Amino acid sequence: MLTPLGFRLLRRLADGEIHSGEALASAVGMSRARVSQVLKEADTAGLKLERIRGQGYRLHDPVPFLDRDAIVAALGATAKTLKIDVVDTVDSTNSELNRRAAREDVHRRLLIAEWQTAGRGRRGRGWTAVAGGSLTFSLGWRFEQGAGFLAGLSLAVGVALARALEIAGISGVELKWPNDLIHRYCKFGGILIELSGDALGPSLAVIGVGLNVRLPPAARRTIAQPVTDLATVARGRVIDRNLLLAVLMRELTAMLDRYAVEGFAPLIPEWQRRNAFRGKAAKIVLPDGSTASGDVVGVDASGALVLDHGGRRLRFVTGEVSLRRP
Ligand code: ATP
Repeated sequence: MLTPLGFRLLRRLADGEIHSGEALASAVGMSRARVSQVLKEADTAGLKLERIRGQGYRLHDPVPFLDRDAIVAALGATAKTLKIDVVDTVDSTNSELNRRAAREDVHRRLLIAEWQTAGRGRRGRGWTAVAGGSLTFSLGWRFEQGAGFLAGLSLAVGVALARALEIAGISGVELKWPNDLIHRYCKFGGILIELSGDALGPSLAVIGVGLNVRLPPAARRTIAQPVTDLATVARGRVIDRNLLLAVLMRELTAMLDRYAVEGFAPLIPEWQRRNAFRGKAAKIVLPDGSTASGDVVGVDASGALVLDHGGRRLRFVTGEVSLRRP
């Protein structure tokens, strides 16, 4: 497990240059032996560190680490509407924001983690992330309405993220119902929304987002479905995670302000335009493992998926089922 000291060392190595054990040790006020011991943990966070005999250490793929000041500067006026925390490591940004919600108001609180050690997907599934190569964050948002009104929220968040990626010059992003961001049927992003509050409102939504910016092969091997990362989608272009995060947050907060008034219905055409399965045959895996199939018609105003099965309309709500290629 990477410790805070480990992150301090990695930040020094983020420039991709060779740093001697001695220089690193004196920078953090520790012995060289301790530095060597701490850096052994780098690979647990998905970072490949080279040890060059007689010279020192170098990060194999140098990456700028997340930096709160850079994010705030890039966010401009939007930063003033948010409470922003950037942490090195946390189990899951959603779990942490939910814990904080028990003792403080987390409306418009944004928690960004360099590394999630126990990221979560829906229904107890895991989300794999690596230090330096993922974007994992959660945003708290209070709505006056209840869960019914918020049923389409994860689809709306998907639209906001896809728009932001397009603005950032990353095209070809598609949505997979209910909450995945994909490219050529490979997943690179997920959304996890957890709601609390009264059935008729008000509600607190903890909106979690995980994106692969550059996911190393070892991390990919832990995921049991086709995956990709934004570096691949952007054809190798270098992606600055701090700048990208700012673009994502601007689109996301603008979307949430509008959603609070209009709900999901006005977004149906855009969601459908970005729907990777539009008009395509699909298989639905139900909680008991059984399957249903049909052609994807689209989504309704509550965010439910509508399939055509031999002329019969089938409707599936979020949270119950998974969509797959047949
Ligand atoms: P599915 O994506 O199977 O339709 P889902 O939308 O319910 O189901 P989520 O709960 O959103 O899936 O995400 C968890 C799943 O995503 C994991 O079970 C795993 O297969 C996959 N996954 C985990 N980490 C990553 C990652 N970094 N990139 C892409 N996919 C991942």
